[in-house]
Amino acid sequence: MKCVSCQLFLAQKLVALILYVAVFTSAACAQDFRVTLLGTGNPRPVMSRFGPSILVEAGKEKLVFDCGRGATQRLYQLKIPFSAITGLFLTHLHSDHTVGIPDLWLTGWVMGRATPLQVWGPEGTEAMMAHLKEAYAFDIHIRRDVDTKLPAAGAEVIAKDIEEGVVYESAGVKVTAFLVDHGEVKPAFGYRIDHGGHSALSGDTRPTENLIKFAQGTDVLIHEVIDPQAYAETVTSDSPEQRKKTIEHHTTPEQAGTIFTRVKPKLAVYSHIVPPDVPEVIPHTRKTYAGPVEVGEDLMSIEIGDKITVRRPSQ
Ligand SMILES: [Zn+2]
Ligand SMILES: [Zn+2]
Repeated sequence: MKCVSCQLFLAQKLVALILYVAVFTSAACAQDFRVTLLGTGNPRPVMSRFGPSILVEAGKEKLVFDCGRGATQRLYQLKIPFSAITGLFLTHLHSDHTVGIPDLWLTGWVMGRATPLQVWGPEGTEAMMAHLKEAYAFDIHIRRDVDTKLPAAGAEVIAKDIEEGVVYESAGVKVTAFLVDHGEVKPAFGYRIDHGGHSALSGDTRPTENLIKFAQGTDVLIHEVIDPQAYAETVTSDSPEQRKKTIEHHTTPEQAGTIFTRVKPKLAVYSHIVPPDVPEVIPHTRKTYAGPVEVGEDLMSIEIGDKITVRRPSQ
């Protein structure tokens, strides 16, 4: 439900966005827009950072962006009912961003979701979800038709291959996909979420002008990062050529700092941190950026209102 002051707030934010003037004048709905980092890691299966996944709660919408390892456990930890999740948006189809989908989809069904899981993602998403349905045909048949007779609709998936542009709009929440540059991994998207306040997340990408364009006016910019030196020291299974390629598909702290300086978010946040422990990430960022920046951690939440409030799970 949207109050009059919220509508006024929206109008003010729209003007601010058009003029690229970051003046925010209303405290309305401050707790109405919250981003929670479910997983801030990448393929490495460490306990300290689960696979990449971000929950965006905006009004009555609960949107999940990427579904890495452990996303379902994090949602359960937050006591988010699986039936309340509006949909899943994928930045790209690398396995670290998708390996948690069967868990969210099927465990969500077992634990009460009686409607299809909706999934938006780059070309290949529809095919991947259709193949997952085939892979889990035995379980779906048993639970739906034979054993506990779970509601049939909850085992369904509505998947959509998307292109750049607005991909979702409901109840005052707008999700816009924009192309990023993840090397040969094409297409790969970042997403911008507008709901009074503005938030953008990068997905996996190396520096790209398109992100800077689409992220303009955002309050919070969540960006991936790789520390090339720390990565090279910790990853010994890759050849030097493979390592070089991986580094080239991501963004260094110095490069991210330049992006933050140009976007000027109220808060920049690192997630998808490669490798998981990068002690130098902030000092390197400070070479090119002087503004607010946080190194994300699993279950850290960011409330977006007239001010930005960060809560870490230890607090
Ligand atoms: Zn990744
Ligand atoms: Zn990737």
